[in-house]
Amino acid sequence: MISAHRQKLLRQIADACRAHDRDPATVALMAASKQQPPEILMAAIADGQMLFGENRVQEAEKKWPPLRRKYPAVELHLIGPLQTNKARLALELFDVIQSIDREPLLAAIAKHADLAARRRFFVQVNIGREPQKSGVMPELADDLIAAAKNKYRLHVCGLMAIPPAAVDPVPYFRDLAAIAARHGLPQLSMGMTADMETAIACGSTMVRVGTGLFGVRR
Ligand SMILES: *Cc1c(COP(=O)(O)O)cnc(C)c1O
Repeated sequence: MISAHRQKLLRQIADACRAHDRDPATVALMAASKQQPPEILMAAIADGQMLFGENRVQEAEKKWPPLRRKYPAVELHLIGPLQTNKARLALELFDVIQSIDREPLLAAIAKHADLAARRRFFVQVNIGREPQKSGVMPELADDLIAAAKNKYRLHVCGLMAIPPAAVDPVPYFRDLAAIAARHGLPQLSMGMTADMETAIACGSTMVRVGTGLFGVRR
């Protein structure tokens, strides 16, 4: 089932790229694997899926260390909120942290300089200014990106956002792309199962797909 879903998603990504004059190699498919047990993760890996995103540090700590030892080619990203007191653990578990959203978190990460130097980071922007969502407010994003790069010397490679549900995501995707462009950030982590093609049309370089790959979560 995962294999068929994955092949279909890869075809949809390739089609969306063709429709918008983009090279399919510039859009990565991330498996958003929250709540998925190890046997499902292994089935995805066996099918060739090497890029995964988890939302919770503690869930990743339970599921991933044995799989990481067994499959060293897997790349694991944190795509959920991070507490400052879990910064060190997150740096140990993840290759990339996509949920940088405030300066105290940058300070907590930078304390572990040796580990942090081997990791990459995305700034998460609350692109719809929604109170219930994490991410830095758009008007504060420029300062936070600059601090991450210049003051804390982190390797910031892109931006991540989740646009408001049930409205046209295009203006939000475009706003995120504009912030990334003015900082010369090459990566845009945007687009999920429901709005993957639209995100690719707006410049996404990484779509994060859960439902479309694994089915509906309980
Ligand atoms: C769950 C999740 C996704 C995937 O959502 P689906 O709609 O199941 O594809 C993407 N990004 C984040 C941050 C998530 O938490």
